[in-house]
Amino acid sequence: MIPFAPPRIDERTIQAVTEVLRSGWITTGPRTKEFEKRLAAYCEVKRVIALNSWTNASELVLRWFGIGPGDEVIVPAYTYCATANIVKHVGAKPVMVDVLDDFTMDPEAVRNAMNSRTKCIIPVDIGGMPARIEEIVKVAEDACAWFSPAVNLRVGGTNPQMRLGRVLVLSDAAHSFGARIGGKPVGSQADITGFSFHAVKNLTTAEGGALAFALPPPFNPDELYAWFNTMSLHGQSKDALAKTTPGAWRYDVEAPGWKCNMTDLQAAIGMVELERYDSETLPRRKAICERYNAAFANDPRFIQPLLKDNERESSYHLYMLRVNEATEDQRDAIITAIAAKQVSVNVHFIPLPMLGHYKGVGYRIKDYPNTYMHYSREISLPVYFDLTDAQVDTVIAAVLAAVKEVMA
Ligand SMILES: *Cc1c(COP(=O)(O)O)cnc(C)c1O
Repeated sequence: MIPFAPPRIDERTIQAVTEVLRSGWITTGPRTKEFEKRLAAYCEVKRVIALNSWTNASELVLRWFGIGPGDEVIVPAYTYCATANIVKHVGAKPVMVDVLDDFTMDPEAVRNAMNSRTKCIIPVDIGGMPARIEEIVKVAEDACAWFSPAVNLRVGGTNPQMRLGRVLVLSDAAHSFGARIGGKPVGSQADITGFSFHAVKNLTTAEGGALAFALPPPFNPDELYAWFNTMSLHGQSKDALAKTTPGAWRYDVEAPGWKCNMTDLQAAIGMVELERYDSETLPRRKAICERYNAAFANDPRFIQPLLKDNERESSYHLYMLRVNEATEDQRDAIITAIAAKQVSVNVHFIPLPMLGHYKGVGYRIKDYPNTYMHYSREISLPVYFDLTDAQVDTVIAAVLAAVKEVMA
């Protein structure tokens, strides 16, 4: 069986983790701090904080911005549940919008969904292809006039909603670490960009995530970092490492924070991944996607994913193939036929309005026709470092045979 997305674990990874274990310091410490510095350099931003997942990191962003009951957050209907679940966690309402043909959020749909309750927009770089962040930031700026900040909000001595004076743009870049917009790496385009280092993602720390800060002045990246650092550790004025200094046991808690710090074990894996990301990971993923592209090009039965245009280049996280004119049932039958040929594929994603909870509270898939159309035709093919060209060819043969069987 060809697996779908195993992580790359080799002697270097094992060595790095072993060193941390032997060092005696396994939680947040010097390796996490070093990983953050290297991530910031990679993303070309001043500050990055590494935390335990995209989910908890991004939820902390919503809390920092003071989002809660009565507020609305705009998300695409086509995404992983985490994008909307964090909105529910803080008591706000996810407002879903439809997507374009490249699976990313439609900026015009965002414009139409904005109102005085809107506090945040979360575009998703699905499959690794960056969303149209610049246009979405423009939509947020154009809507300044009806932005109504919470007047009594106090976060770390200031009111972030008043300070920004518009809707916050938080990018869900769970798939797109290393993708590019206008030649620049993803991370500096949205106000805050959230990455995931979950086991199946392009760059992994087993579980993990990070936030890149690029809020406009007068926001200060060092102050933002300090707030997130403290609040990801119960609001404690000193972290575990600072408390190990002899005699430095006393600390304070100024606000009841959360608990979502990254460990040095995770950071050690991440640093090995990061070191070889541009030289090995991205080129291999790109080559695999290009091999798929060559096989499905000029074949009217398929729609290839957009991986690059004049502005944007994917991180080649997913190869989201679509079978032209397939119904949802036909797509499902194709996947069953592919599985029978010992190849694992996947579907990204079941649209939010089709999931039990969201359907149950009244979201309807018929309100998102593009989302449904793309989803019903979509099959994600395996893309990962250790996948060989011969295996890619096996996948291609399995897909071609399965489509022939089902669509005949
Ligand atoms: C994986 C993923 C997340 C969640 O990331 P975690 O690090 O597992 O919390 C969020 N959004 C999208 C689009 C994802 O694929």
